[in-house]
Amino acid sequence: MNVILLGPPGSGKGTQARRLAAALGLVQLSTGDMLRARVAAGDEIGRQAKAIMDRGQLVPDDIIIRMIALRMAEFDCRNGVVLDGFPRTVAQARALDRMFEERGLRLDRVVVIEVDEAALVERIAGRFSCATCGAGYHESFNRPRTDGVCDACGGTRFIRRDDDRRETVRARLGAYRNETAPIIPYYQDKGLLRRIDGMAPIEGVARQIAAAIGPAPAEAARPAGRVG
Ligand code: AMP
Repeated sequence: MNVILLGPPGSGKGTQARRLAAALGLVQLSTGDMLRARVAAGDEIGRQAKAIMDRGQLVPDDIIIRMIALRMAEFDCRNGVVLDGFPRTVAQARALDRMFEERGLRLDRVVVIEVDEAALVERIAGRFSCATCGAGYHESFNRPRTDGVCDACGGTRFIRRDDDRRETVRARLGAYRNETAPIIPYYQDKGLLRRIDGMAPIEGVARQIAAAIGPAPAEAARPAGRVG
């Protein structure tokens, strides 16, 4: 099963993609995470991307498409992927179609996580994550059970993203509206799109995504009553 989670920054794509990948045994592919790893490593792509990301703009298509094509060619991706943060432009969506086609695979579903824009800046400005395992938290909505200790791994160091500052968030929302939202009709025309309410609590959003995706194709094809 290959799924895209689409939605503006702060809509919970990363959190939901991580859960979905774990639940269905898929590989989570986040171009934002890949770029941040390149920035941390200080390689050529990281150096080019850092300033663009800090302004809240989109990294050029050719860089992103090359990066994701290399990752998609790896063996583990054959079993299915959850894409989070990619594609973000119509050109990227077309390139993704070609990647699936070349490998004899197909995209099964695109889930749009709809959120109230007014809530987004608050959501994003309050978020932080565990420096050790990446688990995500929020100052108001989702604090660790014990202050200062990660629920998932017990880590005690937390980080905030450089581009989660209010001014940058506004630029990122603008990029979403102008450059990413046009891919919604692109997938709607292909009949792949489902919209869900991203303002629900995390569990509720996860349930809606599961319902929007439906059973895995192999299960759907299995005659009723048969097990295994
Ligand atoms: P994210 O973690 O998905 O919010 O991405 C963080 C930043 O990385 C974005 O604001 C962009 O600057 C850059 N980025 C991530 N994915 C893409 C993409 N598919 N196309 C262009 N830029 C991207």
